[in-house]
Amino acid sequence: MKKIFSTSLLFLLISSLIVYGWGDKGHKTIAAFAMKLLPAEMKFTDQFKSAITDHSVDPDNRKRDDKSEGPKHFIDIDYYKEFTDGIVIMSRDSLNKLYDEKVVTKEGILPWATEETFFRLIKAFKEKNKDNVLLYASDLAHYVADGHQPLHATVNYNGQLTSQKGIHFRYESDMFDKYLNVIQNCYEENKPYYVQYIKDYIFDYIVEANDYVEMILSADNYASGKTDGKFDKEYYRLLWFKTKYVTINEINSAALCLSSLIYTAWVDAGKPVMEY
Ligand SMILES: [Zn+2]
Repeated sequence: MKKIFSTSLLFLLISSLIVYGWGDKGHKTIAAFAMKLLPAEMKFTDQFKSAITDHSVDPDNRKRDDKSEGPKHFIDIDYYKEFTDGIVIMSRDSLNKLYDEKVVTKEGILPWATEETFFRLIKAFKEKNKDNVLLYASDLAHYVADGHQPLHATVNYNGQLTSQKGIHFRYESDMFDKYLNVIQNCYEENKPYYVQYIKDYIFDYIVEANDYVEMILSADNYASGKTDGKFDKEYYRLLWFKTKYVTINEINSAALCLSSLIYTAWVDAGKPVMEY
């Protein structure tokens, strides 16, 4: 009985740890960077930009009451045999046929959730519905950020397959929070652009994120090797030493992708003039 209790407690603990992509601070940093990049012609006020930044963490909080929300935050893209052979199947229907819908949902539906949110944002702009622009721009902020977290794009999302359990939280929250000031000072000025092929664009950054998984896992091995498996201050200094360029690059890349998608939705809606 005791074992069952501790196992379920552990499961709960792990589930709660892997709930957050980037943690709240990471999500807000990415959203805030993206808001700075948005072109002035869109006329978002500072207050509206702050509201989007604040609400960018809402989709994580929704998971508690909405069971369909969880799979929207990740895709175990390397679960699929075709991916390991260098082929990305972007059609959810095709994957459903090959692997069964239940499996596809279980392995995560982040790219399609992102795409759907993008189309909802276009509709909100077209209808000049300020509340829905806020809702879907904030949701998009969340999903685009999750798509730039390498450990949200792999079947080995918590190092569980390589005896590195807990790396998800150590990387995206513990290390991120410790180096938050440095990350916040690495904002890059970029110009958002029009995105023509939305699904390809989303899959591209997810595939890129997956490319960094091995680097993060090897950084974890390197750091824990130097500290005899202790996750102390020195461990985090070494983990950061090995991952900082990729991390800062992914944060800025997420901000640019997000601002480009919001800008594209606004252009596709006919560049509506709205009061924010
Ligand atoms: Zn998330």
